[in-house]
Amino acid sequence: MTINPSGWRPASPSDVHGEVPALGPATMTGNRALMLEEPLLFEIGSRDQTGVDFDFTAAAGAERVGALRRTSLDLPGLSEPEAVRHYTRLSRQNYAIDLGLFPLGSCTMKHNPRLNEKVARMAGFADVHPLQPQETVQGALELIDTLAHWLITLTGMRAVAMSPKAGAHGEMCGLLSIRAALEARGDARSVVLVPESAHGTNPATAAFCGYKVEDIPATAAGRVDLAALKARLGVGGPDCDVAAVMITNPNTCGLFEPEMKAISDAVHAAGGLVYCDGANFNAIVGRVRPGDLGIDAMHINLHKTFSTPHGGGGPGSGPVVLSDALVPFAPLPYVVKTGDGYRLVEEETAQAEGSDSFGRMVAFHGQMGMFTRALAYILSHGADGLRQVAEDAVLNANYVLRSLEDVLDAPFAGSGPCMHEAIFSDRGFAEGFSTIDVAKGLIDEGFHPMTMYFPLVVHGAMLIEPTETESKASLDQFIVALRSVAGRAKAGDETLKAAPVFAPRRRLDETLAARRPVLAFRTPAPDGADSGEGAELGGR
Ligand SMILES: *Cc1c(COP(=O)(O)O)cnc(C)c1O
Repeated sequence: MTINPSGWRPASPSDVHGEVPALGPATMTGNRALMLEEPLLFEIGSRDQTGVDFDFTAAAGAERVGALRRTSLDLPGLSEPEAVRHYTRLSRQNYAIDLGLFPLGSCTMKHNPRLNEKVARMAGFADVHPLQPQETVQGALELIDTLAHWLITLTGMRAVAMSPKAGAHGEMCGLLSIRAALEARGDARSVVLVPESAHGTNPATAAFCGYKVEDIPATAAGRVDLAALKARLGVGGPDCDVAAVMITNPNTCGLFEPEMKAISDAVHAAGGLVYCDGANFNAIVGRVRPGDLGIDAMHINLHKTFSTPHGGGGPGSGPVVLSDALVPFAPLPYVVKTGDGYRLVEEETAQAEGSDSFGRMVAFHGQMGMFTRALAYILSHGADGLRQVAEDAVLNANYVLRSLEDVLDAPFAGSGPCMHEAIFSDRGFAEGFSTIDVAKGLIDEGFHPMTMYFPLVVHGAMLIEPTETESKASLDQFIVALRSVAGRAKAGDETLKAAPVFAPRRRLDETLAARRPVLAFRTPAPDGADSGEGAELGGR
């Protein structure tokens, strides 16, 4: 009998490049105290066992689908306790913000207040259906309208498109609005300018919308090079082919773009429009209004700034605030306040109401559950609380930056404080050591790694966003761990090459896993001849 078919093996020197710290004797089961090894569902389940005592062959409806009737689902059967244990064991191998500090830069992995969850579960919000008659969901429409009001107020913009379902989807909404506005004035343009430090979604969105993407260079201080941008824009007018710039502010080096207003003025003078990637809004909420910086469209990641759960497959939500220039082109549907209630403007009525909308982005009205959580977060913090969010996010990142700059190279530390995230490079590591070794070493220390090798403008980048919900004690723990791991990378400690040694799995071939995902289980041949490799993408 194979006790441990999927084979978690305690560290063996053949797995790794360097010496392995002593881990003690292997266990017979493969379990390590409370860390339980868990095979695949297909390896523990059996085809003729089920937790359901319903006789499917006797089901009267079975014959109604005739030839379409499925003969076999080929799923492994488990009893209820077996299924519960399987998924609980797997869940314990995951890292989560509810377990500890999650320093993934650009992702804003902060605590999700339980109050948000309580409100989102109230029946009046949780149980509404998007196809209900509007007069029966007035409260839900009021909630969308109220959240819209606060997003407009916090950003100093004119309107907000609530329906986009993530940051990247919001970028698309912004660019489609910009295109509609340019086409409406008979001035279709073909180029979108994006700084080198931009989040990968920015150039991807521009290309997806059919634009040619061109880089804007960065200065040595990690900011947009205004002179280069102006040179590219030229004198503007009908000869200018630049439809828009997409700028992240604060940018992905964790730095504020102090010349944002000058950038916007230059783009407007050339006849283009300004898109701002607002994913980092948590660094400036309550302190800076993007509308004052000349921005025409900006998405807000509700799941980052306003703390709705994400990163574990939780849904995103990316409302887009718009300037006067873009309001007429906003997507449908949108909520309007009438004399005695709220109403959705949809395709059928939009034109009559003066909208030049570019169309619809989603089937219904957006992520209602995220709207509820974000509004609960905004109202429970209040104006002073939201301002403190930004201040504490920036304070925590600067604490991390200053506590590590003597052991890690901080390329922009000389140009003043950072915003909500601190960036380091791999300069000074021993020959053969790189950022990945530090990331894997952090796993052994019990932390999720930081964002690695992004943004591309910093060599071997380590982007750390502690967020405002970490206490000083928790930051200190993380700093001690990272100082130790960074010290090992600088000293060329070969044991670091073996990390992670305490995780359920060692260093995996992540490229192969992404390029050739094994999506279906194939029973290994009885003689063990099967390589264990399942069907590749699309195959079974
Ligand atoms: C997270 C992020 C995005 C994309 O947002 P999604 O909701 O993941 O689509 C875009 N830009 C920046 C700077 C981000 O941090």
